[in-house]
Amino acid sequence: MIKDTHKILALPGDGIGQEVMDATLEVLDFLNTRESLGIELKILSVGGASYDEHGTPLTETALDEAKKSSAILFGAVGAPKYDNLAWDKRPEHALLTLRKELNLFANLRPAFLFNELAGASSLKPEIIKDLDILIVRELTGGLYFGEPRGINENESPKRAFNTMVYNEIEINRIAKVAFESAAKRKNKVCSVDKANVLEVSKFWREQVTKLHAKDFKDQHLSHMLADNAAMQLVINPNQFDVILASNLFGDILSDIAATLTGSIGMLPSASLNENNVGMYEPCHGSAPDIAGQGIANPLAMILSMSMAMRYSLNLDSLADRIDNSVKVFVMNGGRTKDIASGAPYLKTHEVAKEIIQILS
Ligand code: NAD
Repeated sequence: MIKDTHKILALPGDGIGQEVMDATLEVLDFLNTRESLGIELKILSVGGASYDEHGTPLTETALDEAKKSSAILFGAVGAPKYDNLAWDKRPEHALLTLRKELNLFANLRPAFLFNELAGASSLKPEIIKDLDILIVRELTGGLYFGEPRGINENESPKRAFNTMVYNEIEINRIAKVAFESAAKRKNKVCSVDKANVLEVSKFWREQVTKLHAKDFKDQHLSHMLADNAAMQLVINPNQFDVILASNLFGDILSDIAATLTGSIGMLPSASLNENNVGMYEPCHGSAPDIAGQGIANPLAMILSMSMAMRYSLNLDSLADRIDNSVKVFVMNGGRTKDIASGAPYLKTHEVAKEIIQILS
């Protein structure tokens, strides 16, 4: 399918998803106009908002539009009022459908610390200082999707089972993303597995080692057992550059890494397919506890938009400038309520205005 390189679909979603998206689109609109980026933007509802409007969390129109776009900006979905709906009507269903339909197998989750915010981390400042890790997680295979799976209610004793399975194509394509990402960073990949007890991990390790020897031997590759990796992340996180992990291990490790930074409102993520079409979203959810107050931190969404510029639109220097504007904002003392530690703070839209000011 021929794609318009600059077609972006924004799916704000629910709660603060809408608020951080509004702020981010203000920044995008400014850049699009000033730099003549030629970005064609469409905004559609998703999640609970779509359910309220159309009776489904993801309309055919939204899915079609997502398939035609180079990048999807996704806010966040979910709210307590939707918790008891059938699974296919629940807001989260939209997210999983998009990941599956677009074959978004590579999840990139940076975890970095602005040293000015080190006090928000649960770790000592000297351990967490300068943290800058990228977790590359396989997103469409492994234990979460393996067959057979199920619960046998009729057996005695009753039994439940899942299957952890990877084939060589799945391992190679995610490992390639990790090595290529490391090439833009410090050239270090640590592949995480449980090769001491799982055949699938042993196979994973062999495949990653082979690919490294074949195409990426200039990079430093190490292997670490997942339990040790969890421990090392809190003892000495700065030893890592890129962490490569399967769906299950990546899920757990990326949450540990995110928590280290102490500020969930700051962390972006990208989920990519083989054509670098991607869905870009903050790591946080819809935060019903603060929704509607206009105080959500929009920086994770703004940084997610920056990742879209870098990975799907190939606008690396623009992405650098957006990342830098966030850095300058924080260094100049810019704070939202979640990172203000009781000091004065800016509201969501005021942050967008400051970022635009810095970019001007
Ligand atoms: P959450 O991330 O929404 O909120 C956790 C805490 O962090 C809350 O106290 C919230 O106020 C705070 N927080 C989160 N983002 C913030 C921001 N940008 N600025 C300031 N504070 C922020 O997680 P939760 O409370 O477990 O989940 C709430 C809803 O979000 C649920 O319905 C859940 O299913 C959904 N959720 C959606 C996604 C997604 O759409 N990708 C991800 C996680 C959770």
